[in-house]
Amino acid sequence: KTVGWAVVGLGQLALEEVLPAFAKCRLSKPVALVSGHPDKAKKVAAVYGIDPKNVYDYENYDTIAKNPQVDVIYVILPNSLHAEYTVRGLKAGKHVLCEKPMAATVAECERMIAAGKEAKRKLMIAYRLRHEPFNRTAIDLCRKGEVGKIKLITASNGQDTKAPNIRLSKALAGGPVEDVGVYCLNAARYLTGEEPTEVTAVAVRPKDDPRFREVAESVAFTLRFPSGTVAVCDCSFGVAGVRRYTVQGAAATLSMDGAFGYAGQELVLEKDKRKAKFDLSPVNHFAAEMDYFSTCVLKNENPLTPGEEGLADVRAIIAIAEATRTGRPVPIPR
Ligand code: NAD
Repeated sequence: KTVGWAVVGLGQLALEEVLPAFAKCRLSKPVALVSGHPDKAKKVAAVYGIDPKNVYDYENYDTIAKNPQVDVIYVILPNSLHAEYTVRGLKAGKHVLCEKPMAATVAECERMIAAGKEAKRKLMIAYRLRHEPFNRTAIDLCRKGEVGKIKLITASNGQDTKAPNIRLSKALAGGPVEDVGVYCLNAARYLTGEEPTEVTAVAVRPKDDPRFREVAESVAFTLRFPSGTVAVCDCSFGVAGVRRYTVQGAAATLSMDGAFGYAGQELVLEKDKRKAKFDLSPVNHFAAEMDYFSTCVLKNENPLTPGEEGLADVRAIIAIAEATRTGRPVPIPR
């Protein structure tokens, strides 16, 4: 049996990554589209063999409830719209995969989680790296104690974001922490398996670059964990771009170049002056993630990254924003 998916929002990620990835899925099939642009949606539907009757707009979206072909809704809209379209999807009786970051506020995240519970439907936040072998192996190595006690994590995720882009709108997307910094934050959490208790942060907004009228160009932040681990993270919209992390343990150093990209991960464990490079078979992150969620639906299992996982990142993101404003350490509430 395959699981029927509706894709909500036909922007860059949906068109360039997610829809093509269905071809590599075993269990997940695109059966419906939701878009504000009917002509574009019809063309896209034709490419992917989607019945034009299953093309919805943002007004009649809720009538997807009556479509038995749709099991799962994948929300790929600007961050400011995640909560609304996730809640409406869950209320329509569908399971929802929602892009990261989960939403703009804790209250929105809590509403999304409550809507899933009320509808008895699954909600997963789209942390694709939990479904690809390099990051999974890094987590295993950390859990098995291969690096020893983790003292320091450094993580960087940067890109050169050209205007126009939803990412440069504070209202639609938040800023670099929400968009790219969340990968560093999430990695620090999955590598340690702990929840950070306190953050510090510094933001840079160059006055001479019109891209950064609303959002910071770069943010550097630290996360303090209960066991004593400190993560030093940075993210930017104005750099050529690195996507890497290093875990410095008492016994070994683990590092991953290309850690957050769609491909190109390079995982190295350095112990006793010997470097071991991991030769793993890469997968399409989006296909792996979608088939994973389809399996959760078919087997009625709880996903690895439910709404609570997205909420934990949002709590930290909000504390980081406060730390950039006050210049002081900010505790992360539980
Ligand atoms: P995008 O700007 O290319 O696409 C956004 C889509 O939303 C567009 O089709 C736009 O028409 C539509 N939209 C509907 N209402 C809108 C409104 N009021 N204002 C603006 N656009 C509106 O963005 P994207 O890069 O595809 O990102 C979409 C989501 O996917 C974001 O949440 C982003 O964080 C996430 N994302 C995740 C990954 C990943 O690797 N998991 C990668 C890229 C983006």
